[in-house]
Amino acid sequence: MIATEKKAPLVLILGAPGAGKGTQAERIAQFLNVPSISTGAIFRQNIKEETELGKRANEFISKGEFVPDSVTNPMVAARLEAPDVDNGCLLDGYPRTVEQAHYLRDALASKGKEIDLVLEIVTNQEEVIARLLKRAEIEHRADDNEEVIRHRMEVYREMTEPMATYYADQDKLVQVDGMGTIDEVWARIEKALLDAGFARN
Ligand code: ADP
Repeated sequence: MIATEKKAPLVLILGAPGAGKGTQAERIAQFLNVPSISTGAIFRQNIKEETELGKRANEFISKGEFVPDSVTNPMVAARLEAPDVDNGCLLDGYPRTVEQAHYLRDALASKGKEIDLVLEIVTNQEEVIARLLKRAEIEHRADDNEEVIRHRMEVYREMTEPMATYYADQDKLVQVDGMGTIDEVWARIEKALLDAGFARN
């Protein structure tokens, strides 16, 4: 590697369902000028196209469960092989468990890479449930009814919060207040990115 080469940023965004992760993920990807990889979006696309992957994923997603690692991990590993990821990427919705974080660490380590920064959007549960029910009316997502939403929240607390701790232990976690307008939350995220040493690209 050339010594002066700028490091490709590898940033991860997490947040409870309805935290506004997808919207902010797009802005972060634009800011860093890197592709955004959203496992949720890949699954939804496959469900829409009725692929085998989509059919399998939908069995879990419609119940608010995670898609098994045997499906998700290789799917992400394959995506990370694409040349557009050479300059970095923003991961949205992956990893979601400590196990996935370990898998990702190993997959990246084999290329001499590692996650630089983990942004967690912190939200108030009841406000977020209201947001999601509103989205359900507009987008008709199979996993956006109240019972499934509450289950997804529980799964987030049980499975994903411990993963946030895993990154906090490595001093990679920055928590951002996710309450307020999209622009207000974005201003906080932008500051966190700048504080972490990332310039607009
Ligand atoms: P949200 O964060 O609002 O739940 P996502 O679009 O990130 O939305 O994910 C939607 C659903 O897709 C999840 O509830 C889960 O069932 C599935 N999914 C997404 N990413 C993963 C992952 N990394 N591992 C397992 N399942 C996933």
